[in-house]
Amino acid sequence: MRTQAPKLVCGLEVHQQLETGKLFCRCPSLLKEGKADYSFERKLRPVASELGEFDAAALEQFKRGYSYEYHAFNDCCCLVECDEEPPQKADSEALKTALKISMLCKAVIPSELFVMRKIVIDGSNTSGFQRTMLISKGGFIEVNNKKIGIQTIVLEEDSARPLEKKGSKIVYSLDRQGIPLIEIATKPEIKTPQEAKECAKKIGELLRRTCKAKRGLGTIRQDLNISISNGARIELKGVQELNMIDVFVEREIQRQKALLKIRNELKKRKTPKPTAMPVELTAEFKKTKCKIIEHGIKEGKKVYGMKLTGFSGILGMTIQPGRRFGTELADYLKARHNVPGLFHSDELPAYGFSLEEKKRIAKKLKCSEKDAFVIIVCQANKAESAMKTIAERSAFALKGVPEETRNALENGNSAYSRPLPGAARMYPETDLASIKISRQQLEDIGKELPKSIEERLKLYKKMGLSEKLAEEMKLSNWACFFERAVEKGANAKTTAVFLLEKLKQLERDGIQTKRISMNALLEIVLANGRGELEKGLMAEALKKHLRTGKEIKEIIKGLSEKSIDFEEIEGKIKKIVKENRELVEKNGNRAINMLMGDAMKELQGKADGRKVSEVLRREIEKITKSNR
Ligand SMILES: [Zn+2]
Repeated sequence: MRTQAPKLVCGLEVHQQLETGKLFCRCPSLLKEGKADYSFERKLRPVASELGEFDAAALEQFKRGYSYEYHAFNDCCCLVECDEEPPQKADSEALKTALKISMLCKAVIPSELFVMRKIVIDGSNTSGFQRTMLISKGGFIEVNNKKIGIQTIVLEEDSARPLEKKGSKIVYSLDRQGIPLIEIATKPEIKTPQEAKECAKKIGELLRRTCKAKRGLGTIRQDLNISISNGARIELKGVQELNMIDVFVEREIQRQKALLKIRNELKKRKTPKPTAMPVELTAEFKKTKCKIIEHGIKEGKKVYGMKLTGFSGILGMTIQPGRRFGTELADYLKARHNVPGLFHSDELPAYGFSLEEKKRIAKKLKCSEKDAFVIIVCQANKAESAMKTIAERSAFALKGVPEETRNALENGNSAYSRPLPGAARMYPETDLASIKISRQQLEDIGKELPKSIEERLKLYKKMGLSEKLAEEMKLSNWACFFERAVEKGANAKTTAVFLLEKLKQLERDGIQTKRISMNALLEIVLANGRGELEKGLMAEALKKHLRTGKEIKEIIKGLSEKSIDFEEIEGKIKKIVKENRELVEKNGNRAINMLMGDAMKELQGKADGRKVSEVLRREIEKITKSNR
């Protein structure tokens, strides 16, 4: 008996949206909710020669014959997303961020970057391809003192966001299409589930350190490549929850082990390779109490059964918590034939399917105790191909684990989605010139590399931030701005509170703080640092700037006048007049002009001259009048 754990081979692919403008047009990267401003329909028809080069995955998708509806928004979609206009050159901030990440990983950046078209025919891109750029290769990321190699770092445009499936039509939102996406793929050097999680965490941290990683659900997506010894490579797509990565890896190990156990059992039984032989059984279910079958028949569907020789007990075997081999078969039906599921003999009687029915069907299908059967309810024209899929997948159980692409489910399990994609079909993007990367450019970017988390914490505490603020700032998208502002003279604590707390509060109050430029924001915190703007008025300055579009400097001047209240002006002027009583008595109203300079100086130019002169005249007249 071998007892050692199966050897895990695992690689990670992290996709992160960037908080810059879109990659190949000048639209902002906004993820929208609610009603679209306009929509249009397309059917993608790749030409035969292109189809000839497609792999099984792409073809399977194409054969489903979908049409596509695209929802667009005026403020974040233009003719580029609609594929009505050629792309514009790559967003410089996005490119710079990808280069920074490459440098932080010590990856090799070529001197020239090429934009390529990656053919996609699932409608997730209006043009039928996705633009992608290889930024660097090699390098590594350090996880617990172990170096995990980086395969590639790629900058590409995100695809359109799937909204819903309406029959044979798939609806996409165009808000996401074109948002820059950095893809970091590690070599398959991850050895444990825990290491997979830590590696993903480390990559996430690296991305966030650039201050350009988009935040929120769905902005980062993780894919895993997993296999165990004697198993097969699968691609697990769409893991969103970072803390679940180890669970997903563990569950996949469990699944592959279970499939190997099934293989061994079938071998021991000398089970023959299943072949597709559907038998129509609709007449057997005329009086069934099984709701699913009853409804199906009412809708005009038919019931089919098929014997799986020597499979008794196999379909009921657990492969992941709550999932059995029968569930795997059902996933294939769903993905390939849009048939919602199946019944199998290992789970029956259940769902209203009686024991008596089970016995009758077994007899009809000539099943012995060693055999199993499956029942499906579907349109007559689908029966043959659906049963063929079941036979093929069951036949693979004799070989072990099939290579495939799987979708992450919520609880750590996964379900079959499509065959493993072959190498992507790529063609040069003829609408865009290559991008030359000079040594000088890399040297300049090298000077701007983000600090490590440890460096940040140390620096922030030295600047006087509390533990809480420093912790919050260290991976915030404000960190880079904050460091620059403090270096230029902003007050660290006031600035941190303003960026991390006040702006959020303003957002909640319905102020779109993201519309403010970084320069304007910098002017606000610097004016506060110079003592020209009280911290209590910083939000007011921002609001006024967004509302009126006036220059920050001008707004600050106006606010400062208001910031000295009338009482203060009055108090100061009274004091000046009192101190100069002799001069006032001697010169009468002429003293107004004589004392004006002193008053303005005392008020540090923060008050309106007219108001000062008004108060001064009143105070002086109090004396001159009483002397008459
Ligand atoms: Zn656009």
